[in-house]
Amino acid sequence: MANGPDDATYDHVIVGGGTAGSVLAARLAEDTGRQVALVEAGPADEGLERVLRVRDWMDLLGGDLDWDYTIEPQPRGNSTIRHSRARVLGGCSSHNSCIAFVAPDADLRRWEAAGARGWGPDECAPHYQRVLDQVHVAEPHGPVNPLNEALIEAAASTGLGRLHFGERRWTPGAGLLELNVLHGIRQSASVAYLHPLDRLPDNLSLRCDTRVWELLFDGERATGIRTSTGTLWARHGIVLAAGAFESPRLLQLAGIGPAEYLRSVGIEPRVDLPGVGANLQDHPEGIVMWSSTRAIPEPIHQYWEVGIFADIEGSGEPDLMFHGGLTAFDLNTAPLGYPSARHAFCLTPNVCRARSRGTVRVRTAHPGDVPAIDFAYFTDPESYDEAIMVAGVELARDIARQPALEPWVGSELAPGADVTSREAVSAYARSTANTVYHPCGTCAMGDTDDPMAVVDPELRVRGVDGLRVVDASVFPEITSVNPAITVMMVGERAAEFIRAEEPA
Ligand SMILES: Cc1cc2nc3c(=O)[nH]c(=O)nc-3n(C[C@H](O)[C@H](O)[C@H](O)COP(=O)(O)OP(=O)(O)OC[C@H]3O[C@@H](n4cnc5c(N)ncnc54)[C@H](O)[C@@H]3O)c2cc1C
Repeated sequence: MANGPDDATYDHVIVGGGTAGSVLAARLAEDTGRQVALVEAGPADEGLERVLRVRDWMDLLGGDLDWDYTIEPQPRGNSTIRHSRARVLGGCSSHNSCIAFVAPDADLRRWEAAGARGWGPDECAPHYQRVLDQVHVAEPHGPVNPLNEALIEAAASTGLGRLHFGERRWTPGAGLLELNVLHGIRQSASVAYLHPLDRLPDNLSLRCDTRVWELLFDGERATGIRTSTGTLWARHGIVLAAGAFESPRLLQLAGIGPAEYLRSVGIEPRVDLPGVGANLQDHPEGIVMWSSTRAIPEPIHQYWEVGIFADIEGSGEPDLMFHGGLTAFDLNTAPLGYPSARHAFCLTPNVCRARSRGTVRVRTAHPGDVPAIDFAYFTDPESYDEAIMVAGVELARDIARQPALEPWVGSELAPGADVTSREAVSAYARSTANTVYHPCGTCAMGDTDDPMAVVDPELRVRGVDGLRVVDASVFPEITSVNPAITVMMVGERAAEFIRAEEPA
Protein backbone atom coordinates (compact mmCIF):
# COMPACT_ATOMS: atom_id res chain seq x y z
CA MET A 1 0.00 0.00 0.00
CA ALA A 2 1.58 3.27 -1.09
CA ASN A 3 -0.47 6.36 -1.38
CA GLY A 4 1.69 8.96 -3.15
CA PRO A 5 4.43 9.06 -5.80
CA ASP A 6 7.78 7.31 -5.23
CA ASP A 7 9.71 10.57 -5.20
CA ALA A 8 7.86 13.36 -3.45
CA THR A 9 8.28 16.19 -1.01
CA TYR A 10 6.29 16.63 2.18
CA ASP A 11 6.45 18.99 5.12
CA HIS A 12 7.04 16.14 7.56
CA VAL A 13 8.26 12.63 6.90
CA ILE A 14 7.69 10.12 9.72
CA VAL A 15 9.77 6.94 9.69
CA GLY A 16 7.75 4.11 11.29
CA GLY A 17 3.96 3.85 11.39
CA GLY A 18 4.08 2.32 14.84
CA THR A 19 2.65 3.35 18.18
CA ALA A 20 4.09 6.86 18.39
CA GLY A 21 4.31 7.37 14.61
CA SER A 22 0.59 6.74 14.07
CA VAL A 23 -0.41 9.19 16.79
CA LEU A 24 1.97 11.86 15.53
CA ALA A 25 0.92 11.49 11.88
CA ALA A 26 -2.78 11.71 12.72
CA ARG A 27 -2.32 14.82 14.85
CA LEU A 28 -0.08 16.66 12.39
CA ALA A 29 -2.46 15.90 9.52
CA GLU A 30 -5.29 17.60 11.41
CA ASP A 31 -3.77 20.81 10.03
CA THR A 32 -4.98 20.61 6.44
CA GLY A 33 -2.15 22.85 5.23
CA ARG A 34 0.48 20.40 6.40
CA GLN A 35 1.68 17.61 4.09
CA VAL A 36 2.64 14.51 6.07
CA ALA A 37 4.10 11.18 4.95
CA LEU A 38 3.95 8.16 7.27
CA VAL A 39 6.30 5.40 6.14
CA GLU A 40 5.88 1.88 7.55
CA ALA A 41 7.88 -1.21 6.66
CA GLY A 42 5.00 -3.59 7.36
CA PRO A 43 1.52 -3.95 5.86
CA ALA A 44 -1.64 -2.14 6.89
CA ASP A 45 -3.41 -3.72 9.86
CA GLU A 46 -6.94 -2.97 8.70
CA GLY A 47 -8.88 -6.16 8.03
CA LEU A 48 -6.15 -8.38 9.56
CA GLU A 49 -8.25 -10.27 12.11
CA ARG A 50 -5.23 -12.05 13.61
CA VAL A 51 -3.81 -8.64 14.47
CA LEU A 52 -6.98 -6.88 15.51
CA ARG A 53 -8.39 -9.66 17.77
CA VAL A 54 -6.34 -9.19 20.91
CA ARG A 55 -7.01 -12.68 22.28
CA ASP A 56 -4.54 -14.23 19.82
CA TRP A 57 -1.67 -11.81 20.42
CA MET A 58 0.70 -14.60 21.48
CA ASP A 59 0.25 -16.27 18.07
CA LEU A 60 1.95 -13.26 16.48
CA LEU A 61 5.20 -13.87 18.40
CA GLY A 62 7.91 -14.89 15.96
CA GLY A 63 5.52 -14.79 12.98
CA ASP A 64 5.65 -13.03 9.63
CA LEU A 65 4.69 -9.66 11.16
CA ASP A 66 7.48 -9.78 13.75
CA TRP A 67 11.00 -8.37 13.27
CA ASP A 68 11.89 -11.09 15.82
CA TYR A 69 15.29 -9.86 17.05
CA THR A 70 17.82 -12.14 18.68
CA ILE A 71 20.04 -10.73 21.41
CA GLU A 72 23.73 -10.99 22.25
CA PRO A 73 24.91 -13.71 24.68
CA GLN A 74 23.86 -12.79 28.23
CA PRO A 75 26.42 -13.88 30.84
CA ARG A 76 23.86 -13.51 33.67
CA GLY A 77 20.57 -13.78 31.79
CA ASN A 78 18.75 -15.75 29.13
CA SER A 79 20.58 -15.46 25.81
CA THR A 80 17.77 -17.15 23.87
CA ILE A 81 15.14 -14.44 24.37
CA ARG A 82 13.50 -13.43 21.09
CA HIS A 83 12.60 -9.76 21.15
CA SER A 84 9.37 -9.32 19.26
CA ARG A 85 8.80 -5.99 17.49
CA ALA A 86 5.80 -5.69 15.24
CA ARG A 87 6.24 -5.01 11.53
CA VAL A 88 2.74 -3.79 10.75
CA LEU A 89 0.85 -0.52 10.88
CA GLY A 90 0.34 0.42 14.54
CA GLY A 91 3.70 -1.18 15.39
CA CYS A 92 3.84 -2.93 18.73
CA SER A 93 0.45 -1.50 19.68
CA SER A 94 -0.83 -3.87 16.95
CA HIS A 95 0.97 -6.80 18.53
CA ASN A 96 0.85 -6.26 22.25
CA SER A 97 -1.47 -7.51 24.96
CA CYS A 98 -3.13 -4.10 25.34
CA ILE A 99 -2.44 -3.66 29.04
CA ALA A 100 -3.00 0.05 29.51
CA PHE A 101 -1.32 2.23 32.12
CA VAL A 102 -0.74 5.92 32.62
CA ALA A 103 2.76 6.11 34.11
CA PRO A 104 2.77 6.98 37.81
CA ASP A 105 3.71 10.55 38.72
CA ALA A 106 6.89 9.30 40.38
CA ASP A 107 8.17 8.01 37.02
CA LEU A 108 7.65 11.35 35.34
CA ARG A 109 9.36 13.14 38.21
CA ARG A 110 12.34 10.85 37.65
CA TRP A 111 12.27 11.82 33.96
CA GLU A 112 12.45 15.47 34.92
CA ALA A 113 15.27 14.79 37.35
CA ALA A 114 17.11 13.03 34.52
CA GLY A 115 16.98 16.22 32.46
CA ALA A 116 13.69 15.88 30.59
CA ARG A 117 12.58 19.40 31.46
CA GLY A 118 8.85 19.93 31.10
CA TRP A 119 7.95 16.22 31.25
CA GLY A 120 6.68 16.22 34.83
CA PRO A 121 3.25 14.84 35.75
CA ASP A 122 1.44 18.17 35.42
CA GLU A 123 2.82 18.87 31.94
CA CYS A 124 2.12 15.34 30.69
CA ALA A 125 -1.39 15.08 32.17
CA PRO A 126 -3.23 16.88 29.32
CA HIS A 127 -1.45 14.76 26.72
CA TYR A 128 -2.30 11.54 28.54
CA GLN A 129 -5.88 12.82 28.60
CA ARG A 130 -5.82 13.33 24.84
CA VAL A 131 -4.72 9.72 24.45
CA LEU A 132 -7.46 8.50 26.79
CA ASP A 133 -10.04 10.57 24.89
CA GLN A 134 -8.99 8.81 21.68
CA VAL A 135 -8.18 5.29 22.87
CA HIS A 136 -10.82 3.27 24.70
CA VAL A 137 -9.28 2.05 27.98
CA ALA A 138 -11.27 0.07 30.56
CA GLU A 139 -11.25 -2.91 32.91
CA PRO A 140 -12.57 -5.96 31.06
CA HIS A 141 -16.34 -6.17 31.55
CA GLY A 142 -17.91 -9.60 31.49
CA PRO A 143 -18.52 -12.69 33.55
CA VAL A 144 -15.94 -12.79 36.35
CA ASN A 145 -13.28 -15.35 35.54
CA PRO A 146 -13.01 -17.54 38.66
CA LEU A 147 -9.27 -18.18 38.32
CA ASN A 148 -8.50 -14.49 37.82
CA GLU A 149 -10.65 -13.76 40.84
CA ALA A 150 -8.77 -16.41 42.86
CA LEU A 151 -5.40 -14.94 41.83
CA ILE A 152 -6.48 -11.48 42.93
CA GLU A 153 -7.92 -12.72 46.20
CA ALA A 154 -4.86 -14.83 46.97
CA ALA A 155 -2.51 -11.90 46.27
CA ALA A 156 -4.68 -9.56 48.33
CA SER A 157 -4.60 -11.99 51.24
CA THR A 158 -0.79 -11.89 51.39
CA GLY A 159 -1.28 -8.33 52.61
CA LEU A 160 -1.15 -6.55 49.25
CA GLY A 161 -4.79 -5.51 49.12
CA ARG A 162 -7.02 -4.99 46.11
CA LEU A 163 -6.67 -2.32 43.48
CA HIS A 164 -8.85 -0.81 40.79
CA PHE A 165 -6.24 0.37 38.36
CA GLY A 166 -8.62 2.96 36.93
CA GLU A 167 -8.27 4.89 40.19
CA ARG A 168 -4.59 5.36 39.29
CA ARG A 169 -3.31 4.81 42.84
CA TRP A 170 0.36 3.89 42.78
CA THR A 171 0.42 1.42 45.65
CA PRO A 172 0.91 -2.31 46.14
CA GLY A 173 -2.16 -4.38 45.37
CA ALA A 174 -3.86 -6.73 42.95
CA GLY A 175 -6.64 -6.21 40.46
CA LEU A 176 -7.98 -6.60 36.96
CA LEU A 177 -5.81 -4.72 34.50
CA GLU A 178 -7.22 -1.99 32.31
CA LEU A 179 -6.97 -2.85 28.62
CA ASN A 180 -7.20 -0.79 25.45
CA VAL A 181 -9.69 -3.20 23.94
CA LEU A 182 -13.25 -2.72 22.73
CA HIS A 183 -15.46 -5.74 21.94
CA GLY A 184 -12.35 -7.91 21.70
CA ILE A 185 -10.67 -5.59 19.15
CA ARG A 186 -7.42 -3.92 20.14
CA GLN A 187 -7.55 -0.16 20.26
CA SER A 188 -4.06 0.22 18.90
CA ALA A 189 -2.59 3.54 17.83
CA SER A 190 -3.59 2.76 14.24
CA VAL A 191 -7.14 1.64 15.08
CA ALA A 192 -7.74 4.60 17.39
CA TYR A 193 -5.97 7.33 15.40
CA LEU A 194 -5.88 6.27 11.72
CA HIS A 195 -8.77 3.95 10.89
CA PRO A 196 -10.68 3.80 8.62
CA LEU A 197 -7.74 4.07 6.24
CA ASP A 198 -9.86 4.92 3.21
CA ARG A 199 -10.92 8.09 5.00
CA LEU A 200 -7.50 9.38 5.90
CA PRO A 201 -7.16 13.08 5.18
CA ASP A 202 -5.75 13.97 1.73
CA ASN A 203 -2.72 15.62 3.29
CA LEU A 204 -1.60 12.36 4.96
CA SER A 205 0.25 10.00 2.66
CA LEU A 206 0.37 6.54 4.25
CA ARG A 207 3.09 4.35 2.75
CA CYS A 208 2.97 0.80 4.07
CA ASP A 209 5.27 -2.02 2.91
CA THR A 210 8.00 0.61 2.53
CA ARG A 211 11.27 0.12 4.33
CA VAL A 212 13.45 3.11 5.14
CA TRP A 213 17.10 2.40 4.42
CA GLU A 214 18.89 5.68 4.91
CA LEU A 215 18.59 9.24 6.17
CA LEU A 216 19.69 11.93 3.70
CA PHE A 217 21.33 15.21 4.70
CA ASP A 218 22.10 18.56 3.17
CA GLY A 219 25.00 19.76 5.30
CA GLU A 220 23.81 19.52 8.88
CA ARG A 221 20.14 19.31 7.99
CA ALA A 222 18.21 16.07 7.59
CA THR A 223 16.28 16.53 4.36
CA GLY A 224 15.10 13.16 3.16
CA ILE A 225 14.97 9.39 3.35
CA ARG A 226 15.88 6.65 0.91
CA THR A 227 13.29 3.90 1.00
CA SER A 228 12.66 0.57 -0.70
CA THR A 229 10.30 2.35 -3.12
CA GLY A 230 11.94 5.72 -3.72
CA THR A 231 13.21 8.90 -2.09
CA LEU A 232 11.07 11.19 0.02
CA TRP A 233 12.03 14.73 0.94
CA ALA A 234 10.98 16.79 3.94
CA ARG A 235 10.66 20.57 3.90
CA HIS A 236 10.45 20.90 7.69
CA GLY A 237 11.74 17.74 9.24
CA ILE A 238 12.20 14.01 9.50
CA VAL A 239 10.87 12.17 12.53
CA LEU A 240 12.28 8.80 13.53
CA ALA A 241 9.51 6.73 15.11
CA ALA A 242 10.97 3.34 14.28
CA GLY A 243 11.18 2.06 17.86
CA ALA A 244 13.91 1.51 20.44
CA PHE A 245 16.03 -0.73 18.20
CA GLU A 246 15.55 0.80 14.76
CA SER A 247 15.65 4.52 15.59
CA PRO A 248 19.15 4.36 17.12
CA ARG A 249 20.24 2.02 14.31
CA LEU A 250 19.17 4.50 11.61
CA LEU A 251 20.94 7.31 13.47
CA GLN A 252 24.14 5.29 13.76
CA LEU A 253 24.03 4.39 10.06
CA ALA A 254 23.83 8.14 9.39
CA GLY A 255 26.98 8.70 11.44
CA ILE A 256 25.14 9.98 14.52
CA GLY A 257 26.34 8.04 17.54
CA PRO A 258 29.46 7.03 19.46
CA ALA A 259 32.13 8.28 17.02
CA GLU A 260 34.90 5.89 17.89
CA TYR A 261 32.64 2.87 17.65
CA LEU A 262 31.15 4.06 14.36
CA ARG A 263 34.61 4.43 12.87
CA SER A 264 35.48 0.91 14.00
CA VAL A 265 32.66 -0.48 11.82
CA GLY A 266 33.46 1.75 8.85
CA ILE A 267 30.95 4.56 9.35
CA GLU A 268 32.18 8.16 9.06
CA PRO A 269 30.87 10.00 12.14
CA ARG A 270 28.66 13.01 11.52
CA VAL A 271 27.89 13.87 15.16
CA ASP A 272 29.61 12.28 18.14
CA LEU A 273 26.63 11.36 20.33
CA PRO A 274 27.68 8.55 22.66
CA GLY A 275 24.13 8.12 23.98
CA VAL A 276 22.75 6.80 20.67
CA GLY A 277 22.04 3.13 21.33
CA ALA A 278 23.20 3.33 24.96
CA ASN A 279 20.92 3.25 28.03
CA LEU A 280 18.89 0.29 26.69
CA GLN A 281 16.36 -0.73 29.35
CA ASP A 282 13.65 -3.34 29.70
CA HIS A 283 11.48 -5.12 32.21
CA PRO A 284 13.04 -8.57 32.70
CA GLU A 285 10.36 -11.08 33.60
CA GLY A 286 10.55 -14.41 35.38
CA ILE A 287 7.90 -17.09 35.53
CA VAL A 288 6.38 -19.37 38.14
CA MET A 289 3.96 -21.86 36.61
CA TRP A 290 1.53 -24.36 38.07
CA SER A 291 -0.57 -27.10 36.58
CA SER A 292 -4.25 -26.55 37.26
CA THR A 293 -6.46 -29.18 38.86
CA ARG A 294 -9.29 -28.19 36.53
CA ALA A 295 -9.83 -26.75 33.07
CA ILE A 296 -8.79 -23.12 32.80
CA PRO A 297 -11.83 -20.90 32.24
CA GLU A 298 -11.77 -18.61 29.20
CA PRO A 299 -10.71 -15.01 29.83
CA ILE A 300 -12.78 -12.01 28.79
CA HIS A 301 -10.37 -10.42 26.28
CA GLN A 302 -7.01 -12.14 26.56
CA TYR A 303 -5.07 -14.52 28.79
CA TRP A 304 -3.30 -11.85 30.88
CA GLU A 305 -5.88 -9.77 32.71
CA VAL A 306 -4.53 -9.71 36.28
CA GLY A 307 -1.90 -7.30 37.60
CA ILE A 308 -0.21 -7.46 41.01
CA PHE A 309 2.23 -4.91 42.42
CA ALA A 310 4.45 -5.29 45.49
CA ASP A 311 6.93 -3.08 47.31
CA ILE A 312 9.76 -5.52 48.02
CA GLU A 313 12.32 -2.98 49.23
CA GLY A 314 9.85 -0.98 51.31
CA SER A 315 10.70 2.18 49.40
CA GLY A 316 7.12 3.43 49.45
CA GLU A 317 6.29 2.58 45.85
CA PRO A 318 5.92 -0.75 44.05
CA ASP A 319 9.10 -2.22 42.61
CA LEU A 320 7.78 -5.61 41.50
CA MET A 321 4.92 -6.39 39.14
CA PHE A 322 3.27 -9.69 38.26
CA HIS A 323 1.15 -10.42 35.27
CA GLY A 324 -1.22 -13.29 36.01
CA GLY A 325 -1.55 -15.58 33.00
CA LEU A 326 -4.20 -18.22 32.32
CA THR A 327 -1.90 -20.17 30.06
CA ALA A 328 1.19 -22.36 30.05
CA PHE A 329 3.64 -19.66 28.96
CA ASP A 330 6.48 -22.14 28.53
CA LEU A 331 8.36 -20.30 25.77
CA ASN A 332 11.54 -20.16 27.86
CA THR A 333 11.01 -23.03 30.31
CA ALA A 334 10.14 -25.90 27.95
CA PRO A 335 13.44 -25.66 25.98
CA LEU A 336 15.30 -26.18 29.28
CA GLY A 337 13.29 -29.26 30.10
CA TYR A 338 10.78 -27.89 32.60
CA PRO A 339 7.44 -29.67 32.32
CA SER A 340 4.34 -28.04 30.89
CA ALA A 341 0.66 -28.93 31.11
CA ARG A 342 -2.45 -28.48 29.02
CA HIS A 343 -4.19 -26.69 31.90
CA ALA A 344 -1.68 -24.39 33.54
CA PHE A 345 -1.46 -20.85 34.88
CA CYS A 346 1.36 -18.61 35.94
CA LEU A 347 2.58 -15.51 37.73
CA THR A 348 5.37 -13.63 36.01
CA PRO A 349 7.40 -11.37 38.33
CA ASN A 350 9.01 -8.40 36.58
CA VAL A 351 11.36 -5.72 37.87
CA CYS A 352 9.51 -2.39 37.59
CA ARG A 353 12.62 -0.20 37.47
CA ALA A 354 15.35 -2.58 36.40
CA ARG A 355 18.81 -1.06 36.76
CA SER A 356 20.79 -3.06 34.18
CA ARG A 357 21.67 -1.03 31.10
CA GLY A 358 22.47 -2.34 27.64
CA THR A 359 23.25 -1.22 24.11
CA VAL A 360 21.99 -1.33 20.53
CA ARG A 361 24.77 -1.05 17.97
CA VAL A 362 25.08 -1.46 14.23
CA ARG A 363 27.43 -4.30 13.37
CA THR A 364 28.46 -2.91 9.99
CA ALA A 365 27.75 0.04 7.69
CA HIS A 366 25.30 -2.10 5.71
CA PRO A 367 21.73 -0.79 6.09
CA GLY A 368 20.24 -4.29 5.88
CA ASP A 369 22.18 -5.78 8.82
CA VAL A 370 20.42 -6.44 12.10
CA PRO A 371 21.97 -4.60 15.04
CA ALA A 372 23.77 -6.17 17.99
CA ILE A 373 21.31 -5.88 20.88
CA ASP A 374 22.77 -6.47 24.32
CA PHE A 375 20.47 -5.98 27.28
CA ALA A 376 23.13 -6.99 29.81
CA TYR A 377 20.28 -8.44 31.88
CA PHE A 378 20.99 -8.80 35.62
CA THR A 379 24.36 -7.05 35.41
CA ASP A 380 23.66 -3.99 37.56
CA PRO A 381 26.48 -3.67 40.10
CA GLU A 382 24.24 -3.94 43.19
CA SER A 383 22.47 -7.07 41.83
CA TYR A 384 19.23 -5.19 42.45
CA ASP A 385 17.46 -6.75 39.45
CA GLU A 386 18.37 -10.23 40.62
CA ALA A 387 17.25 -9.51 44.21
CA ILE A 388 13.82 -8.24 43.10
CA MET A 389 13.39 -11.20 40.75
CA VAL A 390 14.23 -13.77 43.42
CA ALA A 391 11.86 -12.06 45.85
CA GLY A 392 9.23 -12.16 43.12
CA VAL A 393 9.51 -15.93 42.71
CA GLU A 394 9.17 -16.36 46.49
CA LEU A 395 6.16 -14.03 46.63
CA ALA A 396 4.51 -15.91 43.75
CA ARG A 397 4.85 -19.12 45.74
CA ASP A 398 3.40 -17.41 48.79
CA ILE A 399 0.42 -16.28 46.73
CA ALA A 400 -0.09 -19.84 45.44
CA ARG A 401 -0.20 -21.12 49.03
CA GLN A 402 -3.17 -18.90 49.92
CA PRO A 403 -6.57 -20.58 50.47
CA ALA A 404 -8.16 -18.83 47.46
CA LEU A 405 -5.87 -20.73 45.09
CA GLU A 406 -6.05 -24.08 46.83
CA PRO A 407 -8.79 -25.44 44.52
CA TRP A 408 -6.65 -24.59 41.48
CA VAL A 409 -3.03 -25.39 42.24
CA GLY A 410 -1.89 -28.81 41.06
CA SER A 411 1.89 -28.96 41.08
CA GLU A 412 4.53 -26.29 40.56
CA LEU A 413 5.78 -26.97 37.02
CA ALA A 414 8.52 -24.33 37.02
CA PRO A 415 10.83 -23.88 38.75
CA GLY A 416 9.49 -26.92 40.70
CA ALA A 417 9.09 -27.50 44.42
CA ASP A 418 12.63 -28.87 44.76
CA VAL A 419 14.19 -25.55 43.69
CA THR A 420 14.47 -23.78 47.01
CA SER A 421 17.86 -22.22 47.75
CA ARG A 422 18.34 -18.58 46.83
CA GLU A 423 21.11 -19.53 44.39
CA ALA A 424 18.96 -22.16 42.68
CA VAL A 425 15.96 -19.82 42.42
CA SER A 426 18.14 -17.06 41.01
CA ALA A 427 19.80 -19.38 38.48
CA TYR A 428 16.38 -20.67 37.39
CA ALA A 429 14.80 -17.22 37.14
CA ARG A 430 17.67 -15.69 35.18
CA SER A 431 18.12 -18.59 32.76
CA THR A 432 14.42 -18.80 31.90
CA ALA A 433 13.66 -15.08 32.07
CA ASN A 434 11.68 -13.50 29.29
CA THR A 435 11.18 -9.87 28.38
CA VAL A 436 7.93 -8.00 28.92
CA TYR A 437 8.78 -6.57 25.47
CA HIS A 438 9.40 -3.04 26.77
CA PRO A 439 12.79 -1.95 25.34
CA CYS A 440 13.34 1.79 25.61
CA GLY A 441 15.83 4.53 26.41
CA THR A 442 18.21 4.23 23.45
CA CYS A 443 17.87 7.87 22.29
CA ALA A 444 17.22 9.37 25.69
CA MET A 445 15.93 12.88 26.31
CA GLY A 446 18.10 15.05 28.47
CA ASP A 447 19.65 18.40 29.26
CA THR A 448 22.03 20.09 26.84
CA ASP A 449 24.90 19.61 29.31
CA ASP A 450 24.33 15.85 29.55
CA PRO A 451 26.77 14.19 27.14
CA MET A 452 24.62 11.04 27.01
CA ALA A 453 21.44 12.88 26.00
CA VAL A 454 20.47 12.20 22.38
CA VAL A 455 17.42 14.43 22.04
CA ASP A 456 16.52 17.63 23.84
CA PRO A 457 13.26 17.85 25.81
CA GLU A 458 11.47 18.83 22.56
CA LEU A 459 12.78 15.60 21.02
CA ARG A 460 15.22 17.25 18.56
CA VAL A 461 18.37 15.26 17.83
CA ARG A 462 21.37 17.18 19.10
CA GLY A 463 23.95 18.43 16.61
CA VAL A 464 21.80 18.30 13.47
CA ASP A 465 18.75 20.19 12.20
CA GLY A 466 15.42 18.89 11.04
CA LEU A 467 15.54 15.57 12.87
CA ARG A 468 13.54 14.29 15.82
CA VAL A 469 13.05 10.95 17.56
CA VAL A 470 9.53 10.22 18.77
CA ASP A 471 9.09 6.74 20.22
CA ALA A 472 10.05 4.63 23.25
CA SER A 473 13.72 5.39 22.56
CA VAL A 474 13.38 8.83 24.13
CA PHE A 475 12.38 7.57 27.61
CA PRO A 476 15.22 8.62 29.92
CA GLU A 477 14.13 5.81 32.26
CA ILE A 478 11.78 2.92 31.84
CA THR A 479 8.28 3.47 33.20
CA SER A 480 7.42 1.29 36.20
CA VAL A 481 4.38 0.04 34.28
CA ASN A 482 3.60 -1.15 30.76
CA PRO A 483 4.62 1.69 28.45
CA ALA A 484 2.38 1.76 25.33
CA ILE A 485 0.02 4.50 26.55
CA THR A 486 3.06 6.57 27.53
CA VAL A 487 4.53 6.09 24.04
CA MET A 488 1.24 7.44 22.63
CA MET A 489 1.50 10.37 25.04
CA VAL A 490 4.98 11.07 23.64
CA GLY A 491 3.40 11.13 20.15
CA GLU A 492 0.81 13.64 21.32
CA ARG A 493 3.44 15.90 22.84
CA ALA A 494 5.66 15.70 19.78
CA ALA A 495 2.78 16.91 17.61
CA GLU A 496 2.46 19.93 19.86
CA PHE A 497 6.19 20.70 19.74
CA ILE A 498 6.24 20.47 15.95
CA ARG A 499 3.11 22.58 15.54
CA ALA A 500 4.60 25.29 17.76
CA GLU A 501 7.89 25.24 15.85
CA GLU A 502 6.46 24.97 12.31
CA PRO A 503 2.99 26.49 12.13
CA ALA A 504 0.97 24.99 9.27
C1 LIG B 1 4.52 -8.82 22.26
C2 LIG B 1 4.43 -7.49 22.94
C3 LIG B 1 3.55 -7.30 23.99
C4 LIG B 1 3.49 -6.05 24.63
N1 LIG B 1 2.50 -5.83 25.57
C5 LIG B 1 2.30 -4.58 26.03
C6 LIG B 1 1.16 -4.28 26.80
O1 LIG B 1 0.29 -5.11 27.03
N2 LIG B 1 1.03 -2.99 27.28
C7 LIG B 1 1.97 -2.04 27.02
O2 LIG B 1 1.81 -0.92 27.52
N3 LIG B 1 3.04 -2.30 26.26
C8 LIG B 1 3.20 -3.53 25.72
N4 LIG B 1 4.24 -3.77 24.87
C9 LIG B 1 5.20 -2.68 24.60
C10 LIG B 1 4.63 -1.57 23.73
O3 LIG B 1 3.72 -2.10 22.80
C11 LIG B 1 5.80 -0.85 23.06
O4 LIG B 1 6.66 -0.34 24.05
C12 LIG B 1 5.35 0.33 22.20
O5 LIG B 1 4.28 -0.05 21.39
C13 LIG B 1 6.53 0.81 21.35
O6 LIG B 1 6.12 1.87 20.52
P1 LIG B 1 7.15 2.60 19.53
O7 LIG B 1 6.38 3.65 18.84
O8 LIG B 1 8.35 2.97 20.29
O9 LIG B 1 7.61 1.47 18.51
P2 LIG B 1 6.75 0.54 17.56
O10 LIG B 1 5.32 0.55 17.95
O11 LIG B 1 7.46 -0.76 17.49
O12 LIG B 1 6.83 1.27 16.14
C14 LIG B 1 7.93 1.22 15.30
C15 LIG B 1 7.44 1.04 13.87
O13 LIG B 1 8.48 1.37 12.98
C16 LIG B 1 8.49 0.44 11.93
N5 LIG B 1 9.85 0.42 11.39
C17 LIG B 1 10.98 0.05 12.03
N6 LIG B 1 12.04 0.20 11.21
C18 LIG B 1 11.58 0.70 10.06
C19 LIG B 1 12.20 1.07 8.84
N7 LIG B 1 13.53 0.96 8.65
N8 LIG B 1 11.43 1.53 7.83
C20 LIG B 1 10.08 1.66 7.99
N9 LIG B 1 9.44 1.32 9.14
C21 LIG B 1 10.18 0.85 10.15
C22 LIG B 1 8.08 -0.86 12.58
O14 LIG B 1 7.62 -1.81 11.62
C23 LIG B 1 7.02 -0.39 13.55
O15 LIG B 1 5.74 -0.38 12.97
C24 LIG B 1 4.34 -4.99 24.22
C25 LIG B 1 5.20 -5.18 23.13
C26 LIG B 1 5.24 -6.41 22.49
C27 LIG B 1 6.16 -6.59 21.30
